[in-house]
Amino acid sequence: MSLPSTDVSLGSRYRALQQTIARLAEQYEREPARVQLLAVSKTRSSVEIRDCAVAGQLQFAENYLQEALVKIDDCADLPLTWHFIGRIQRNKTRDIASNFSWVHTVDRPQIAQRLHDQRPPELGPLNVCIQVNLDGASNKGGIQEQEVPELAAAVMALDRLQLRGLMTIPEPADNLASQRQPYRRLAALLQELARDYPGVNTLSMGMSADMEAAIAEGTTLLRIGTALFGPRNTEAP
Ligand SMILES: *Cc1c(COP(=O)(O)O)cnc(C)c1O
Repeated sequence: MSLPSTDVSLGSRYRALQQTIARLAEQYEREPARVQLLAVSKTRSSVEIRDCAVAGQLQFAENYLQEALVKIDDCADLPLTWHFIGRIQRNKTRDIASNFSWVHTVDRPQIAQRLHDQRPPELGPLNVCIQVNLDGASNKGGIQEQEVPELAAAVMALDRLQLRGLMTIPEPADNLASQRQPYRRLAALLQELARDYPGVNTLSMGMSADMEAAIAEGTTLLRIGTALFGPRNTEAP
């Protein structure tokens, strides 16, 4: 019989992180169950993911499709939920639609249509967040604020997609007040959207460096890599 490969330090980092999140949720008077941790496992091994799952984490997010497919397969015996948070290339939509439960980076109607058409019906609807580009940086994904209603309506019309909310990746800022600004805008956008679509209530926002700002502004899904797994050696696999 082999010993479990549990990495004690990963387990203790996980517990410390959950405590930090719980403390911040309390500080900002957020309902703890509405501030969830999504473990960003890009560049991490299947062993690290399994260790994290042993510690209690079941939701994982990946940016790079080929890398993700290997790990999804390696961990197929575990009850994990997989989220895609990378840029979506047109020719990758089939694999995304058939291997993930959530996609956070939908930013054009054509991609929504392809994900819908390629979603195997027996898997149930694919959960979708619309990515919003709040700072107008042209080098990253996301639609402009004013385009959100139109794309939301397009997603709502597709029955194999379930619109869940909004996601953003802001420009890094080094103080809490500046970090809070884009998250406040995203939260306001979600409120507007929820007037038309009451079930839409996910705010995918906040990373290791700005989780306090995101919790303060109402995040429901923190996307955390470094603060859980430690520093990454590389950005890309
Ligand atoms: C890598 C990544 C994260 C996690 O970043 P950390 O700083 O490691 O917490 C969150 N969201 C997206 C979209 C990412 O690509």
